[in-house]
Amino acid sequence: MILEVRAVPPFMKNGFVLGCETTREGVVIDPGDDVDLLLAAVERHALKVGAILLTHAHLDHVTGVARAKQVLSVPVWLHQADNTLYEGVVQQGMMFGFKVDPQPPVDHFYAADQKLRFGAYEIAVHHTPGHCPGGVALAVNGDPRIHGPTGRQILIAGDTLFAGGIGRTDLPGGDAGTLFRSIRQVLFSFPDETPVYPGHGEPTTIGREKRTNPFLR
Ligand SMILES: [Zn+2]
Ligand SMILES: [Zn+2]
Repeated sequence: MILEVRAVPPFMKNGFVLGCETTREGVVIDPGDDVDLLLAAVERHALKVGAILLTHAHLDHVTGVARAKQVLSVPVWLHQADNTLYEGVVQQGMMFGFKVDPQPPVDHFYAADQKLRFGAYEIAVHHTPGHCPGGVALAVNGDPRIHGPTGRQILIAGDTLFAGGIGRTDLPGGDAGTLFRSIRQVLFSFPDETPVYPGHGEPTTIGREKRTNPFLR
């Protein structure tokens, strides 16, 4: 699998490009101020991007959607519970003292057991509210027909779980109890060796966070 991660100041939010090395199909995840770096990665790998996927609608994760959609002409996906936040992105910017442009409307809301494909890979969308109402984790599996039943599996976790940290719950729509439930019941149901790519900072694994995350012991 092709996996590119980019982050730029001030938010240092991770944006992702995932691609299938065989078919060159791919997806862009959470394009923010890093959008031009993500688009350059798409071009360098000669990917045919099929979708812009959002883990949630905080401004740092969506400020590049308009630019990405303008270049790629593909649908934008979000969990419906975050659409109010998404449509209020200009106001989110004002809250934090940033001038943010409005973004194009979301094209599709994730279904309850939404699966999306790019080439040989499948993405399963898991609702993980708590940091915000419509947060999701994207579990990317190798195609079982190609990679065997265990496949390769990674989690794009948004701002729910970080290496040594957890998502803040003091923003509108955040709830600490809900966040802990999402981490323990959804994320911690993945095997310990599962790599986790958070919305900010370095990758980690489920097992490492189970053992060492000070917020979860
Ligand atoms: Zn966030
Ligand atoms: Zn963030």
